[in-house]
Amino acid sequence: MDTQQKEIYEIVERGMAGKGLPDKDIKKLYEVNPESEEAFHIRWAGRALTREAADGKAEVHAQIGLNGSPCPKNCQFCSFAVCNGVRKGKLEMPLEDVLEYARIYEEDGANAILLLSTATYSLAKLLEMGQAVREIISPDMPLLVNTGDMTLEQAQQVNAAGFNGIYHAVRMGEGVVTTIPVETRLATIKNAQAAGLSISTCVEPVGPEHTSEELTEKTRMCIDMDAVSAGLGRRIGVPGTMLYDLGMITEFTGSLFVAVYRLATGLAPRLNCSGHSLLTAHSGANLAWAEVGTNPRDTKERTEKGGRGQSLATATRVFLESGWEVLEGPSPGWILD
Ligand code: SF4
Repeated sequence: MDTQQKEIYEIVERGMAGKGLPDKDIKKLYEVNPESEEAFHIRWAGRALTREAADGKAEVHAQIGLNGSPCPKNCQFCSFAVCNGVRKGKLEMPLEDVLEYARIYEEDGANAILLLSTATYSLAKLLEMGQAVREIISPDMPLLVNTGDMTLEQAQQVNAAGFNGIYHAVRMGEGVVTTIPVETRLATIKNAQAAGLSISTCVEPVGPEHTSEELTEKTRMCIDMDAVSAGLGRRIGVPGTMLYDLGMITEFTGSLFVAVYRLATGLAPRLNCSGHSLLTAHSGANLAWAEVGTNPRDTKERTEKGGRGQSLATATRVFLESGWEVLEGPSPGWILD
């Protein structure tokens, strides 16, 4: 074993203590060749640590995309962004459909339900959707929302409507390939937490152009958010979007990064995303999303109809085939007092 390999094995051993790693160690792990023996050791370690953190259980959360109207925030990776010209006209899912999806998802065993909207979807409408979904799902079923940035007052309204948490991230290249400043994203996280909402986050959307420095910087931001779920997700190239030509990292590389995230963060949080493939589920990801409705990684009106959106059954099968148990019932830890 040469000195570099030895160093990686030593970092992994420190990571296996479950207390997280310093930035310099995280950066070194992100730089490992995905084909190398050390990379497979990292994947093994990431998986072992997540299994310990979550008692061998994976979860599938269910996302309902509420709208797909063009969004002026212009994130260059997103199919909703005006600058990409992929989406045209107003597209909103009617309340009856949202409720039907939520009802079916709970019946079919989703561990949490998440409503997704563009940043410009009306807050009043979002609150109305949240209240209506909250009324038909069990009180202990977590209800999350992935929407635009919010003030403290707006976050309090979101909480009062029956949401328990938000998905929110400082995206790769935030403020450069998006028009939203990093500080605005971080302020929303703070406002949500101050309003009693839990956080789900991720280092995303990761592409081949991203350096180990930026991966490490965003990993640290995620760790500092004290989220209930976090991890790493690769960018899905949507034809027509400005970043499409930059390409994608492979699932193989992504599976290494997912394992690195776990070693970086330690035993908390319990949920490591994103487990959308056998490779990532093998490497320590234990959270995946089933998706219906609109989807920023897709151009279909209904992602479940011939698009990217995977079903609850498919996501569950990926985990079972990867040796995970899948949690039955509502995901714990999201509903704060
Ligand atoms: S990622 Fe969100 S904020 Fe950015 S363009 Fe898409 S919908 Fe708008």
